[in-house]
Amino acid sequence: MVEKMKKIFLLLLSLFFVSPLYASEPEVVKLRENVYAFIGADGAANSGFVVTNEGVVVIDTQGLKELSILLKNKIKENTDKPVAFVINTHYHGDHTFGNQYFKEAKEIISHDNTKKNLIEKKEPHERQFKKFFGEKSLEGFELTLPTKTFTNTLSMRIGNKSFELVCLGVGHTDGDIIVYLPTERLIFAGDLLYTERLPWVNDGNIKNWKEVLRKIGWFEADTYVPGHGKVAGKKRLKEFEGYLSDLTEEVKKLKKQGMNAEEVAKNISLSKYKNWIKYNEWLVLNAKKAYEEIE
Ligand SMILES: [Zn+2]
Repeated sequence: MVEKMKKIFLLLLSLFFVSPLYASEPEVVKLRENVYAFIGADGAANSGFVVTNEGVVVIDTQGLKELSILLKNKIKENTDKPVAFVINTHYHGDHTFGNQYFKEAKEIISHDNTKKNLIEKKEPHERQFKKFFGEKSLEGFELTLPTKTFTNTLSMRIGNKSFELVCLGVGHTDGDIIVYLPTERLIFAGDLLYTERLPWVNDGNIKNWKEVLRKIGWFEADTYVPGHGKVAGKKRLKEFEGYLSDLTEEVKKLKKQGMNAEEVAKNISLSKYKNWIKYNEWLVLNAKKAYEEIE
């Protein structure tokens, strides 16, 4: 028995020392000629970059300094061209707080409400960010705002590439945009799409979000880069919409049984999604928000 315990102890010890500090690193995936996704480790925020002959277009700048710098370095590994434009898909810090490391861009582009939220929600937003990433996560941080904003759509020809920036209504936030590359049949969806990870719903509207996902499906595209999770095909768009529907239906069912919001949050289970990242942490939050919307 003692021998067995010793063996287990040694095994655990070796696992501890062999595993790196972080389970995995962000990964750069080449999706098309000159189009790349920077996929956050373990479901952390994604970015993208598109190399045009007029410079690089960066989609979302990460939030932690070391990740923004890593993104910069990964861009440099793939092109000598400078960063020409930055696009923010929505205001959340894990997608925008790295803007300060891309100041060489001619413009930082976003929806009007993204800029507004970054200004008006500054304090609670930074508090929330520190809660997620640690007290010291914003050392050296300077809020760097979008310099050009729009309301509905913005079409841009940058060098040899076309970009359609489109707002489809309130989903994850009130300032979400998708970045559509029509020639490449590819969409950077920001946090409107998550793959195999529960979404952060507290800033948005679940009911409307499903509509927005349906509209994303109307674009002629085959490849979707989510805000969190791995690069996806159309099937994942449906799957994520399915999650939001299942969440709402289950909450409705429990509410009908007479449960209040707290009871629903405590009792809800969506076993189909139990392997998704953040299932244990965020299902309660998702359920409370869905309940609030039904009321
Ligand atoms: Zn977000």
